[in-house]
Amino acid sequence: MQFRNTKLNYNKIYDIFISHLHGDHCFGLIGLISSMGMLGRTAPLTIHAHQALEGLLKPQLAFFCKGLPYEIRFLSFNPAVSEVIYEDRSIQVTTLPLKHRMPTAGFLFREQARDRHILKDMIDFYKIPLRCIRSIKAGEDFTTDEGEIIRNDRLTLPATPSKSYAYCSDTAYYENLIPLIEGVDVLFHEATFSDSELARAKSTMHSTAAQAASIAKQAHVKKLIIGHYSARYINENELLNEAKLVFQNTILADEGMSVEI
Ligand SMILES: [Zn+2]
Ligand SMILES: [Zn+2]
Repeated sequence: MQFRNTKLNYNKIYDIFISHLHGDHCFGLIGLISSMGMLGRTAPLTIHAHQALEGLLKPQLAFFCKGLPYEIRFLSFNPAVSEVIYEDRSIQVTTLPLKHRMPTAGFLFREQARDRHILKDMIDFYKIPLRCIRSIKAGEDFTTDEGEIIRNDRLTLPATPSKSYAYCSDTAYYENLIPLIEGVDVLFHEATFSDSELARAKSTMHSTAAQAASIAKQAHVKKLIIGHYSARYINENELLNEAKLVFQNTILADEGMSVEI
């Protein structure tokens, strides 16, 4: 239902990444899968998750989604290691092992490296043939017919940096995460509790807002989004303020909001 409220197009979803098998992270799947079927989807849908999900979801699919007009594919990953689990021409997805009450992984979504910007004047000046443009954009030098080597940095400007987004939920404060998310553009980190519930955060393997901010600060991320608040907080500004004391560029996640990366 929330998906439909956002007016995003269901049919553009080909892959779904599930961090762990607590209900608040996967109860919605069967409804989403069923709705997509009712709306006439035909393209396959791949679900990336811990291997146990397949065994849990298949009986539900068999019971509730007979005659589903599209195929569901399950691809499992090992939440204990960081590895590339998805890749296409434009994006790469890497798992981020987290520390929670069950095997859990976050996900790093990173654009593939972009081409360097070629300088048109230099192409004309050196009369560079079309067949060499691709390799120059990829960073290679150019050799003229006379055998002179023109260094790539004379021919191009650096590529626009690729953008990155890390999703980390659910997790206790976990410093092993820091090197894996170094410098990302946007970090979503759970902040279930405020400072006053530090002990509870520890026992339930969740994070406080200040702990999320500390991870953001140590990893030099550009922007932090906190979310996954405990229902006890009517006003989440308490969490926002605690996070901002540690990492200024923090915002509160809200369902349906969109964030420019
Ligand atoms: Zn959980
Ligand atoms: Zn959760």
